Amino acid sequence: MTSSTHVATGVDDRTAERLAAALRCVTVSSDTGDDPADAEFDRLAAHLEQCFPLVHGELELERFGHSRLYRWPGAEPGTAAILLAHMDVVPVDDERRWTHPPFAGVVDDEFVWGRGAIDDKSRVMAILEAVEAALAAGKRPRRTVFLAFGHDEEAFGRSGAARMAARLRSLDVRADLLLDEGGVITAGVAGGLRKPAAFLMLGEKGWATVRLAVTDVGGHSSMPGRQTAVGRIARAVARLQDKPMPLRMTALTADMLDRVRPALSGPPRAALKLFSPAGAAVTRMLATRPQTEAMVRTTTAPTVIRGGVKANVLPQSAEALVNFRILPGDSVAGVLEHCRRVVRDDEVAIHLVGTSSEPSETTGPGPAFDVVAGITRAVVPEAVITTGIVPGATDSRYYDGLAATRCNFAPVLFDQADLGRIHGTDERLSRANYARLIEFNGRLIDHFATH
Ligand SMILES: [Zn+2]
Repeated sequence: MTSSTHVATGVDDRTAERLAAALRCVTVSSDTGDDPADAEFDRLAAHLEQCFPLVHGELELERFGHSRLYRWPGAEPGTAAILLAHMDVVPVDDERRWTHPPFAGVVDDEFVWGRGAIDDKSRVMAILEAVEAALAAGKRPRRTVFLAFGHDEEAFGRSGAARMAARLRSLDVRADLLLDEGGVITAGVAGGLRKPAAFLMLGEKGWATVRLAVTDVGGHSSMPGRQTAVGRIARAVARLQDKPMPLRMTALTADMLDRVRPALSGPPRAALKLFSPAGAAVTRMLATRPQTEAMVRTTTAPTVIRGGVKANVLPQSAEALVNFRILPGDSVAGVLEHCRRVVRDDEVAIHLVGTSSEPSETTGPGPAFDVVAGITRAVVPEAVITTGIVPGATDSRYYDGLAATRCNFAPVLFDQADLGRIHGTDERLSRANYARLIEFNGRLIDHFATH
């Protein structure tokens, strides 16, 4: 690894500053489809090219909009890995709550501050730091490595990840490993876990938003009849909330529990001793907390409700949006069917809106998983390695079938408060975590150079 990278002390000033400069590019993704951040993406591209001359001299680069697909040709046929990350960030809600302005890219003794410090520019930069260092040391991969950096992950990835994945499909790529954001190492987050846990996620949940809508003739509120459009929508939402999709233990969640079992203490340890992780009692135990309930069912979240114009006017329409995160084994169509069955009201129109995605195929741990696990152990020896499923959506869902093992993971060590900074206020990454990230990618590339 580069001499500037020391996990114990964190990255040096120059490495931290390169990340901070990337955070100063306001590459915000919007859902509206227009792209006001063009100039900022160009600025980020110029920054990458300036910081990493060897990468841009020796790797082949193909652009898809602002997305960047790099090919690092191997000496032998075949593909070792596809390393994914994204360059766009989510907007900032209330800038005044931030300790430093979110796009100022401030570096202090301990942290690099700014939107994207965690999600996900640190991963873009860490991968490039590691490749640049490997090139400087004269290394090259035995088999080809792709780097795929999206520009619209936070807006569903249709013009970035989708097109890069299609390109890889047209090249008949089948990699050993696809690595993307998703899991991290958490300490003190899961109850009863005595050690930090590294969640090497092996898939992600699906996503669907269902719109419930009622239209009515309206009229004066002094003669409302039995139910207004607003009342009807409220009842439909309440029914969905009261009757969620059933609890179910998946093979992946059972595997995750099995792996953390030795590091558990207290009641969770006792419960897992008594009951098999795959059993109903453990499933019910997980369902008692929102963070763990998401692992054992398709979740229901009513997020928007609208209707009516004035207190004494009967509403002519009302609508609600309900967001579902779909467990492997369930499907988008199944969610829609569930809604119709539970709402059981013909006056309520029920449709999908926006983008939906099926839960990913879950590859299960394979040989490439052991490689990632081994490197994680080397970088963060105190962590217990486990698996899991990403509750959100990432770019990697477009890459189904392109790799034997898909893993969503970055070896950064977070507590509960750190997790709240992702998409939240005061996003920042410690110099120590950034050093772990670079070290991890460097070791991965060393592995590709010899395997
Ligand atoms: Zn992200």
